[in-house]
Amino acid sequence: MEINTVCKKSVEEFIGIIEKFHGWAAPGVVIGGFMVDWAQELLGQGIEADAIVETRHCLPDAVQLFTPCTCGNGWMKILDWDKFALSLYDKKNLTGYRVWMDLEKLSAFPNIYNWYMRLVEKKDLPLSVLNQDILSAGRNILRTALVRITRYYGKNKKGEIRICPVCLEAYPVRQGLHCLACQGEGYFDYDSLTTLQGIQKAVCL
Ligand SMILES: [Zn+2]
Repeated sequence: MEINTVCKKSVEEFIGIIEKFHGWAAPGVVIGGFMVDWAQELLGQGIEADAIVETRHCLPDAVQLFTPCTCGNGWMKILDWDKFALSLYDKKNLTGYRVWMDLEKLSAFPNIYNWYMRLVEKKDLPLSVLNQDILSAGRNILRTALVRITRYYGKNKKGEIRICPVCLEAYPVRQGLHCLACQGEGYFDYDSLTTLQGIQKAVCL
């Protein structure tokens, strides 16, 4: 079966959009596009859908590119499970569709299988060959099921805000008496010049 459109785009346009956003036509994002396309079709027109993505790799970009859901607007939740699956669901009634990679179906596509299961070195499987197989496979490597969402739906509320007595920046009260950075979770040090300029004045005193 020849594929003509994915996510309402021509195949060329679809690949171009991925390259522009992701930097290159990563196979995971290409497959992700097919997953989103199928889930959206099953949900039907006019449904306001939220997304839950089960990996941080590649799939969130497919959701951000081909649905209105982004990390920033809170309509997409990302679980750090490293499972190649996602659900799109009606935010009003919490029912929707999970789409995932079906290993049994995948066995009919050895290049994609070997890439997905990390059985082949990148240099031994050119991207153009892999992506051509992915485009030919389309939905034939995926499965879907109707699901009811039981967790991770709705808005993550920010809650009350206060000023951290150490860094003097605003942070959510629920984190405790100091912001997480000042509780030792920080990921940076300021250079001495910045410190001298008083940004860390509360620390220096
Ligand atoms: Zn602080």
